[in-house]
Amino acid sequence: MSRRCPYLEEYYREKAGPLRTYHFDCHVDGLSHVRRRLSDSPPICVRNFEDCKLYQAEKHREDGLITRYTD
Ligand code: SF4
Repeated sequence: MSRRCPYLEEYYREKAGPLRTYHFDCHVDGLSHVRRRLSDSPPICVRNFEDCKLYQAEKHREDGLITRYTD
């Protein structure tokens, strides 16, 4: 099963020699992030994204909106 944050927009990896470059655009902060590592180390967005502070904040905000609409 693929683990992928629902707020993750663009995501791709590049490999150049030992260097891994991960590009990920987050819908919550609206930023394009680049992460470079010398070993496989994908960002939290494709792993345990529930632990991400941005994810938690946005989920909380959406849940709040849904609660309001159903009141
Ligand atoms: S895991 Fe966090 S940083 Fe990554 S896309 Fe989701 S909210 Fe954004």
